[in-house]
Amino acid sequence: MRIMLFGEPGVGKGTLGSRLSEKYSIPRLSTGDLFRAEIAKSTPLGQKVKEYINSGHLVPDEIVLEVAKQMFSVDYNNGFILDGFPRTVPQGEAFSAILKEHDWKMDAIILIKVQIEEIIRRLSARRQCESCGASFNLVSSPPKVAWVCDKCSGKLIQRPDDEPQVVRERLSVYQEQTNAVVNYYRRKGLLKEIDVTGLSVNESFESLIKLIESS
Ligand code: ADP
Ligand code: ZN
Repeated sequence: MRIMLFGEPGVGKGTLGSRLSEKYSIPRLSTGDLFRAEIAKSTPLGQKVKEYINSGHLVPDEIVLEVAKQMFSVDYNNGFILDGFPRTVPQGEAFSAILKEHDWKMDAIILIKVQIEEIIRRLSARRQCESCGASFNLVSSPPKVAWVCDKCSGKLIQRPDDEPQVVRERLSVYQEQTNAVVNYYRRKGLLKEIDVTGLSVNESFESLIKLIESS
């Protein structure tokens, strides 16, 4: 199963993508998680991308394409969940070439939608473990102890790019750059869309599974 997830920041791509990854026993490939791990380890790549990410801008295509090349040098025989790539038209073109090279076809290309008011609410309540990256939400999935990770007891922080001003920047970057990629798949009739405004994580996940398996 090869699944691609699109959606504005905060629609739950990471959470739903992780659930899909468990259900289908396939890896979730997230460029955002990969970059954040590099930043946490302060690697040369992490240092290069940190400023872009923390200010809500996209990492330049040449860096992303280098990372993508490595990401897809592995043979994902059972498939993968793609979260956060491609995000620009050149990345979309590069990804088409990768598919062709491996003789792969996508099984589902999905756009997850949530009303803007809810996006803002969710992102301001999001907390993430500094050590293991686990995600919490003060409203919908609060940690057992405030500011402490349930999984590894690490410290919970707010992602720097979840600050309100940076969120606005990320939303406008999405409109300006990623929408074009989404529209490309929509025009080709390959895009399935789902609105999960007001739904719980479980309800969103159920609807998503139905949509994926309806093809
Ligand atoms: P979200 O989708 O919630 O904004 P991600 O975790 O997917 O968050 O990405 C966080 C940040 O990482 C993005 O705002 C961007 O700076 C960077 N990033 C991730 N993937 C890409 C990509 N494919 N191209 C450019 N930048 C990316
Ligand atoms: Zn943790």
